Amino acid sequence: MDIITRTNLHRPEPAVTLSQTQPAASPTDPLSPYRHLQVWVDGQLHPAADATVSVFDHGLLYGDGVFEGLRFYNQRVLKLQTHLNRLAESAAAIRLPLPFTLEETQQAIRDTIAANQLTDGYLRVVLTRGAGTMGINPFLCPQPSLFVIAASIQLYPEDFYTHGLKILSSSFIRNHPQALSPRIKSLNYLNNVLAKMEAIDADCLEAVMYNAEGYVAECTGDNLFIIKQQDGQPTLITPPLSAGILEGVTRNLVIDLARNKGLTVHETNLTRHDLYTAHECFLTGSAAEVIPVTEIDGRPLGPAADPNAKGNPGPITQSLITAFRQLLQHAPED
Ligand code: PMP
Repeated sequence: MDIITRTNLHRPEPAVTLSQTQPAASPTDPLSPYRHLQVWVDGQLHPAADATVSVFDHGLLYGDGVFEGLRFYNQRVLKLQTHLNRLAESAAAIRLPLPFTLEETQQAIRDTIAANQLTDGYLRVVLTRGAGTMGINPFLCPQPSLFVIAASIQLYPEDFYTHGLKILSSSFIRNHPQALSPRIKSLNYLNNVLAKMEAIDADCLEAVMYNAEGYVAECTGDNLFIIKQQDGQPTLITPPLSAGILEGVTRNLVIDLARNKGLTVHETNLTRHDLYTAHECFLTGSAAEVIPVTEIDGRPLGPAADPNAKGNPGPITQSLITAFRQLLQHAPED
């Protein structure tokens, strides 16, 4: 029996369903898209089935570790150095020593891409505390572990880039920086996972998370921008790092692209009201790239004075998507 929820009572069926955004996995084997891969673990490439870490690894037992998600285009790893620096900073923030230098990690990434004969794809670089005793004490884990997965990526279908995403305001606030700084890209993503489930329940692919002060922070896996006309000029506004967000590599790239186009960019706090009255909105992330948002909490976005534009990606967002895609043709490694 179909469960009727408040959301599907009031909303038309989405043009693209959630299942279309998942990689083609067999229902009985969720790893089927990855079985053929070679995965780099602590200095060696292994077939995916043999690429394992210990059940005593504190990355698993406590989420004690950090990671990076990167994209490569025509074998060029976008902002490779910036991602590796962020990995090193995340590791330093949790006092996790790097088992390999950043040069060795860079080589591991290149070797993994080559071993899998990929030209375009997504990379996951994971650094865990390693195996130790079952107590929390990380100082009893003598050997951190590093692994690298390179896989082809299933983008959001192009339809989302032309028609936009619906997102939901999450009831889960983003981790308080005094508890666990969102600047650390840690293996503990439960905060985001809870918000993501809320979004999916409401037929949305992303959730926007607010901070403890009620200001917009970021989405579960993306940074957020709005565009508003101010004094007749389009202005991009994105939450500042002090709102408690990850300093997204794509966020910073887009800020540069926008400023190079002569657009004004402000990093200032945003409220829910600012989202509801935004003329345009888009998200940025290594996986999603630059993707328009056209509806928040069931409200179509767009200028109040132009009902026809409501619910459609706006011109500034579209021009930034074009500029970003141009940049990807020669993806700067830094
Ligand atoms: N915020 C969060 C919570 C994320 O997980 C991500 C993506 N990993 C981002 C923002 C976007 O960061 P980036 O552009 O560096 O991928």
